[in-house]
Amino acid sequence: MRYLPLAFDLKNRPCLIVGGGSIATRKARLLNKAEARLLVVAPDITDELRQLVLASGGEYIVGRYRRDLLENVEMVVAATADSDVNAQVSSDARAQRLPVNVVDSPQLCTFTFPSIVERGPLAIGISSGGSAPVLTRMLRAQIETLLSPGLGVIAELAGLVRDRVKAALPEAQRKDFWHWVFNGPIVGEVERGHKAEAEQALLQELERWQERPAPSGEVYLVGGGPGDPDLLTFRALRLMQQADVVLYDRLVSSEVLELVRRDAERIYVGKMKQFHSVPQDDINQLLVDLAKEGKKVLRLKGGDPFVFGRGGEEMDKLAEAGVPFQVVPGITAAIGCSAYAGIPLTHRDHAQSVRFITGHLKQGDLVLPWQELITANQTLVFYMGLAGLPTISEKLIAHGMNVDTPAALVEKGTTRDQRVIVGTIATLPELAETHKVGAPALTIIGGVVTLRESLGWYQ
Ligand code: SAH
Repeated sequence: MRYLPLAFDLKNRPCLIVGGGSIATRKARLLNKAEARLLVVAPDITDELRQLVLASGGEYIVGRYRRDLLENVEMVVAATADSDVNAQVSSDARAQRLPVNVVDSPQLCTFTFPSIVERGPLAIGISSGGSAPVLTRMLRAQIETLLSPGLGVIAELAGLVRDRVKAALPEAQRKDFWHWVFNGPIVGEVERGHKAEAEQALLQELERWQERPAPSGEVYLVGGGPGDPDLLTFRALRLMQQADVVLYDRLVSSEVLELVRRDAERIYVGKMKQFHSVPQDDINQLLVDLAKEGKKVLRLKGGDPFVFGRGGEEMDKLAEAGVPFQVVPGITAAIGCSAYAGIPLTHRDHAQSVRFITGHLKQGDLVLPWQELITANQTLVFYMGLAGLPTISEKLIAHGMNVDTPAALVEKGTTRDQRVIVGTIATLPELAETHKVGAPALTIIGGVVTLRESLGWYQ
């Protein structure tokens, strides 16, 4: 994001528009909606522009642009047909640190106007920083169709009673109350045009809420999937939007974390290689404590919380402490990586079963039922097996697995940086070294790996 969208309060602020044609008029319309005071300088102006200036309590200055006009204004828009004048306005304004927009010349602007979707006080700005105006207009049209016209009235209503709600309800309850307002019967009243009834229903409901006991906290154990945010479930996204605080670890991708409610507190509890992680007991305790404060606590984990995720232990503690919780499955790394690598985990010709195994070394060794792992027609998926890859390869071969058994490493699966390295169980450890494969990585072993050649579709 190169340009930061901001919501500018221009009420009664003097803004200078240089130019009096149709483009200047268009900008004036926008500034007028924001209740700015319009100063327009141009030899000639459109009738509409003249009226906008008048309505805003501003001034029309007949003539050409002069530098001294910048003196008492707070924003400048250059919209003349003369590129020299536009460039002059831009350079003068910048010299005075005034925000300036030059129509159709992003290089002369310190700000640009986003495409705007408007519903009363509600404004959605879409900006591509000038790089794809057609795309932003297209998006605007799409968003227009999604938002009910009644939204503006609801937003206005919310603005009217905001202070009362704030005084009446504690913070933990307020958010739920507004959820009720924006999703409940009030919306229907507004859509039917019953504004007064809507306001009354809202105030009645507020009284009811005041009498309720404060809500208790809750924990959402949510699987964030392997990386691509598109793989989240609807439920995950909804709960991520409701959370007051989020505890996340290293495997949660930054794109997924971006989707958590902006003002939720974020607590990192993962570990980095050379640093100590937050001990599991402390995480368990933190979940309990935060929920007991009445908070909605999001425990966000990579992949699925119940697949090598220690989610079970955390929920155990919550159940013991009587804290309500819910579990939302996520796409586990094996499922995500296999799909994005074009390696089906089962296939009529290759594998009738699949095993998810932890390859995490304990004191440099791996204790696993190796004999069972070399069964024919079975796909093996090793999680956490990068450091242990040489051991895995060695033991499988020692227990009788064919050295030519196809094997693949999927690094950062489902993300834009995904890499897939294909070899055999004999060659994979060395390939991992040469290609400098890093975490997180998953190893898939079995005949299904050969299918990648025809089924690989991602990147
Ligand atoms: N609960 C997680 C697994 C946690 S164990 C899940 O269901 O996916 C951590 C291991 O998962 C990593 O060592 C790696 O083997 C695997 N992993 C997680 N995300 C991955 C990704 N995007 N690409 C490859 N492997 C991944």
